[in-house]
Amino acid sequence: MTKNRVLVIASGNQGKILEFQGLLNGLPLLVEPQPEGLDVEETGTTFAANARIKALAVAQATGHWALADDSGLSVSALNGAPGVHSARYAPTDPERIKKLLEALRPCHERSAYFSAALCIAAPDGEVLVEVEGRCEGQITKAPRGDQGFGYDPIFEVNNTGRTFAEMALSEKKSYGHRGRAFTLLEPLLKNLISTD
Ligand code: IMP
Repeated sequence: MTKNRVLVIASGNQGKILEFQGLLNGLPLLVEPQPEGLDVEETGTTFAANARIKALAVAQATGHWALADDSGLSVSALNGAPGVHSARYAPTDPERIKKLLEALRPCHERSAYFSAALCIAAPDGEVLVEVEGRCEGQITKAPRGDQGFGYDPIFEVNNTGRTFAEMALSEKKSYGHRGRAFTLLEPLLKNLISTD
C-alpha cells in the first residue's frame, strides 16, 4: 500500500477544496488543490460527464489522481433545467432564484432534485471511481431561510418541511446531495487505496 498518495482536487474554488480536505481527513492521502491557471471547460450534458471531464483533465495535467465534482439543481416541470447550467442560469444567486420562481409561477408540479457527481481519475486516463448523490425536494413559492448558498432558500427537502437555507450545515450535510455522494465515495476510495 502506498502511503500518502497525492489526490488533487480538480477545482479552483477555495471553499470546495477546504470542504474536500475536511471530508478526506483521516485517509492516507495528501490532498492538494489543482495548479493555478488550469481551467477545464465543462462541456458535458450531465453532472457525471462534467465531473469525469474535469477529473481526467486534471489527472493528466498533474500526473496524480484527481477528484472532481459537479452539482446542480434539476426541476421536473422545466425538463431538468437549470441542470448542468445551474451556476450560469443568471448572473447572481438572487437573480437565479428570481428567474426560477418566475419560470415556475404557473406550475403546481414543483418537484426537483439536487445532484452531486464525484469522479476520481488517474493520469493514464482510467476512471477509478464515479458516484452520484441526490436530494429530492420541491421548489417553494418564495425564498425561506438565510443559511447556505445558491438555490438553498427555494429548495424544500422532502419530508422535512424546511428549505436547505433553514437547516444548520450539519443537517444539510446529512440530507444533502454532496454528503450523500461522499458517503458513497468513501468506501470505494478506501478500497482503492488499500489495493493500491
Ligand atoms: P458547480 O458544481 O460548482 O459547477 O456549481 C453548481 C451550481 O449549482 C452552484 O453554483 C449553485 O448555483 C448550484 N448548487 C449546487 N449545489 C448547491 C447547494 O447545495 N445549494 C444551492 N445551490 C447549489
